[in-house]
Amino acid sequence: QELTFYVGPDGPEIEEQFLEHLKTNLAGNWSRKYTSIPHLAGQGKELLEFTAEKFKEYGLETEVESFDIYLNYPVDNGLKLIKDDSEVVYEASLKEDELEDDPTTIGDDLIPTFHGYSASGNVTAQFVYVNYGTKKDFETLDKLGVELEGKIAIARYGGIFRGLKVKFAQERGCVGVLIYSDPGDDNFNEDQGYKPYPQGPSRNPSSVQRGSVQFLSQMPGDPTTPGVPSQGNVTRVDPYNSIPKIPSLPVSFAEIEPILKKLNGHGINSSEDISSDWVGGLADFKYWTGPNPDYTINLYNEQSYDIRPIYNVYGKLRGRDPSEGYIIIGNHRDAWIKGGASDPNSGSASMLEIIRGFHELSKTGWVPERTIIFASWDGEEYGLLGSTEFGEKYGERLKGHCYAYLNVDVSVGGTGLKLESSPSLNHVLNTALKQVQYPGSETPQSLYEHFYETPDKKIGILGSGSDFTVFLEHLGIPSVDLGFDHGDNDPVYHYHSNYDSYKWMSEMMDPGFKYHQAVAKYLGLVALKLSGQKVVPLKMAEYATELKGYYDELSARIPDDWLSKKITKRRRCHERKHNVNETTIEELVVLTKLSLSDAIGSSIKLDNKTSYLQDLWDNSVDMPFWKRIILAGWIKYTNIRLLLLERTFLVEEGLKGRPWFKHMVYAAGRDTGYEGFALPGMKEALDDSDFWELVKWLKTIYSVTQDLNVRIGYEKESLMESSF
Ligand code: GLU
Ligand code: CA
Ligand code: ZN
Ligand code: ZN
Repeated sequence: QELTFYVGPDGPEIEEQFLEHLKTNLAGNWSRKYTSIPHLAGQGKELLEFTAEKFKEYGLETEVESFDIYLNYPVDNGLKLIKDDSEVVYEASLKEDELEDDPTTIGDDLIPTFHGYSASGNVTAQFVYVNYGTKKDFETLDKLGVELEGKIAIARYGGIFRGLKVKFAQERGCVGVLIYSDPGDDNFNEDQGYKPYPQGPSRNPSSVQRGSVQFLSQMPGDPTTPGVPSQGNVTRVDPYNSIPKIPSLPVSFAEIEPILKKLNGHGINSSEDISSDWVGGLADFKYWTGPNPDYTINLYNEQSYDIRPIYNVYGKLRGRDPSEGYIIIGNHRDAWIKGGASDPNSGSASMLEIIRGFHELSKTGWVPERTIIFASWDGEEYGLLGSTEFGEKYGERLKGHCYAYLNVDVSVGGTGLKLESSPSLNHVLNTALKQVQYPGSETPQSLYEHFYETPDKKIGILGSGSDFTVFLEHLGIPSVDLGFDHGDNDPVYHYHSNYDSYKWMSEMMDPGFKYHQAVAKYLGLVALKLSGQKVVPLKMAEYATELKGYYDELSARIPDDWLSKKITKRRRCHERKHNVNETTIEELVVLTKLSLSDAIGSSIKLDNKTSYLQDLWDNSVDMPFWKRIILAGWIKYTNIRLLLLERTFLVEEGLKGRPWFKHMVYAAGRDTGYEGFALPGMKEALDDSDFWELVKWLKTIYSVTQDLNVRIGYEKESLMESSF
C-alpha cells in the first residue's frame, strides 16, 4: 500500500460544505414516504427496500441482515364492564377514531391497539386504580391495605416504562392490567379551551398509546436469547424472566372513564388520603382506588406468538484508513402505527438527510478518515430487538473497533433539544452545538444558546428506551441520544398513536421540516468530527469529574454506623495488593475519592495531549515525511487508548439480578426503565440497605478506578514525543 496523506479539504472546510448541501431540505419527502405504509417490526417490506435503495443510491455499501425473534402480533381483544357479575353495561371499542382529513388514520391496514410482548388471556375481575403504577405507588397501596391479589390494575401512562407497571402488578398477584393516557398529564387541555387534534393542539380523546411491556430494565432484545444473537439454531430460554405472564391492554381516556368512574366512593379517596399526585384530569372520575364489589371487567387479549424475522439495514461509508475503527449512527425504522411521523420517522428522515449530505461531499473526492456505518434498526419498539441482537452478535468486534454510537430515534417530537450522552462525547457535542442555528427562534440563536438557556443545564445521562442501550450498557461504547423533545408549549404529541401522523407533523409540529433539518445538520457535524479528526475527539476530564460527582453524592448516603465497619468478608488477589481487606468502609471511600481525583488530574493531561497532537497534525504539512509518519503512528497509538477507555467500566458479572447490564457507571433504572442512574450497583445497594452488596460495589468501583488511572495515566515523555 502506498503511503500518502490526504491533501483535499478537511475539518472546518468540509463541515461548511456539508452545511451548504443541507440548505436543500428533503426531510419532508422522506417523512411522507416513511409514514405512508404500516411498518410494524418484521413488516413493511416496501420501506425496508426503500431504505436499502436509498443507502445504495447515496453511495453506501449496503447490507440487510435478519434475526429470528420471538414476538407477538395482535389477533383479537375486548374490554367489557360488567355489573353484578351478569349485565354488560359498557363495552369499549379499543379503536382510535378515523379522522376524515388525516389519511393515515383511516383504512383497513391500521395496526390494532395492543402491547408488544403482552400475554394472551381472558380474565374477569374487580379492578383497582394504581396511579402511575410505579414501585412507590404500589407500596402506597400495600400500606393502605388495598387488596391487589386477583384484581385488574388500571394505571395511567407516565413516570416509568410501561412494562414495569405490568411487572409490579404481576408481582402483587394482579390478573391483568389496563394502561390509559390521562389528559391531566398533557399540556393544552380541552378544559383550558383548546380543541383536540385535528382541530387543535390538545389530545384526541380516542388516542391510544401502544407500546412494549417487556421488562426493559431486566434486559432488552429477544426475551428468549439473552446475551446471544437470535439466529440459526440458537438455544432459546423461557422468556418470562423479561416479559409478563398476565395480559394487558392500552386504552384511551375516553374509553377508560366510564369504567373508572365506577370506583368513585369506593376504597381510598386518593386526593384526600394519599396525595394530589394521584389525581389526573378526568372529569367524572374522582380518583378513588376502588375496588367496587358491584363491578368487574372482562379483559380479553389474544396474541399470536411465533419466531419471526426482523430486518436491519446497514450502510457503510468506508474511511480512508482501513486500520482505523469506525463510528455508527443508528435509527429505528419500525413503528407501532401506519404513520409514526415522530416515532421513529422524524429520525429516519434526518438520518437520510445526513447520508445525502455525505454523498454530496464524496462527489468531490472526500472520504472520512475512519469508517461511518449507518444502521436502520428493526424491532426497536418491541424491545430494542435489531440493535440488541446486532450488539450481541458483533460484540467483540464492536468493542475492539467502534469509537462511538450516535442514536437518533424521535428527532422531532417537540421543540426543545434533548441531549444525553457518555461524558467523553460532551466536548464534541458542545462544539457542534455552536455551529447550528436553532430553528425556533426569530432572532439568530445557536443550538448551544438554546440548549443552555436554562441555568445549570447539563447534557443528561443515558438510561434506556432506545437503541443506544446495547452499545453503552452492554458493550461499553460511548453513546449519545438526541432529538427535539416535547415541551409545555408544543402541541400534544400523540406518542404511539395513529395521530402521530404526517399531517400532524407537517401542519402542526414542524411545518417546513426545519427541526428535522437542524438535527441532520447537528448530528452530521458530530459524525464528521468523530470520523474526520485525525485524533479522535473523545475527552476524559469531564467523565472523570462526573464520576467523582456521582461517587461523592452516593457515598454521602452511606449510614454512619457502616462507615467504621471493616471489610473482611472476601479476599481477592488484586484487592490484597491494595490492602483493601484491611480497611474500613470509610477508608475505602477516602481511597476511592483520592483515586478519582487522580483520574481527573491525569484526564486533564490526556485531553491536553490529544489537543496538542491534533494541532501538531494540522500543522504537519511541511514536516519531513519520516517525521509525519512517526506522528501518525503516535496518533494511532493514542486513538487506540481512547477507543478502549470506556470499556474500563464494564464489569463482567453485571448488575445484581440483571447480568446483561455490564456498565458500572450507567444503566437503565431498575424500577424506572427509561430513566438512567449513575453507579447503579452502588445506588441499588444503598436503596436496598444491603451492606454486603454495597461492600462489593465499593470494592469494584475502587479497583475499576485504579484501572482507569492506569489506562489514562500520563506516561513519561516517550521516545516518539521527544522527536517533536
Ligand atoms: N422506545 C420503545 C418504547 O419506549 C422501547 C421499547 C423497549 O425497549 O422495550 O416503548
Ligand atoms: Ca439475543
Ligand atoms: Zn422510537
Ligand atoms: Zn416508540
